[in-house]
Amino acid sequence: MFDNHTHTQYSGDIPPGKGSSVRELCLSAIACGLQGIAITDHFDIDGIRDGFFPPLDHEGIYRDILAAKEEFAGKLTVCHGIELGQATHMPTEAAEQLESYPYDIVLGSVHAVRGIIDFADTDIASLSKNEYIRLWEQYLEEMLATLEWGNIDVLTHITYPKRYYLANGITEFPNIKDRGREYFEPIIKSVISKGISLECNTSGLRQAMGECLPNRDLLSFYYELGGRDISIGSDAHHDYDVGKGINEATEMLKEIGFTHYATFASRKKSFSKL
Ligand SMILES: [Zn+2]
Ligand SMILES: [Zn+2]
Repeated sequence: MFDNHTHTQYSGDIPPGKGSSVRELCLSAIACGLQGIAITDHFDIDGIRDGFFPPLDHEGIYRDILAAKEEFAGKLTVCHGIELGQATHMPTEAAEQLESYPYDIVLGSVHAVRGIIDFADTDIASLSKNEYIRLWEQYLEEMLATLEWGNIDVLTHITYPKRYYLANGITEFPNIKDRGREYFEPIIKSVISKGISLECNTSGLRQAMGECLPNRDLLSFYYELGGRDISIGSDAHHDYDVGKGINEATEMLKEIGFTHYATFASRKKSFSKL
């Protein structure tokens, strides 16, 4: 199996001195029996511009990944990736960044919508119902815009804000706790028509929500609508989380009916058996 979504100490959301090196992530991947790992550090483009996150050291990451590719050749496939957040807020700069390095895989994320830094940093409890419903709608709109922009290989962790809504006890508007099909149908249809992989992100299994992002119901909905193209990632921010939840997610995906998962090299997609 591959872990297509991991972060090193270069990621701006990891405090200095915490986190793991590229090499440590790779050693952890080998220890848990993975065949490949994608290093996909955060590049939340507007958050960096506005000074909320430190600049990403693209050159340092690239250098470390090239060294890891060489060191682990024949033992582990090491992919150079990036998790591009809010590309549609600065589409020209985002496209330029993707031209700057020979990436293997580009993850497309929406961690924030215009007006907030990140759902993780937003005091959702202080919002009125109208405000938090509007934020949710903006999230859906901006994901659709990201797909329309299209210069990504994988759409990551759909339902991301749900983690923060549930943490604040917000479950009542059309049942985001258990379903959400009514919200995500246009997004899932767009993922399929654009040929972009949908991520099964296992980080929620390590958190209070206790499920992948998206959850089993939405993954089943994707399958029912014809989606077969799945990328799996732990979203590890430390070496000890590399590969976590991937076996569990694989079993769930097979039960739904999926047979393959996607891997990427030089932004070309291949499929391997689950
Ligand atoms: Zn993310
Ligand atoms: Zn991530």
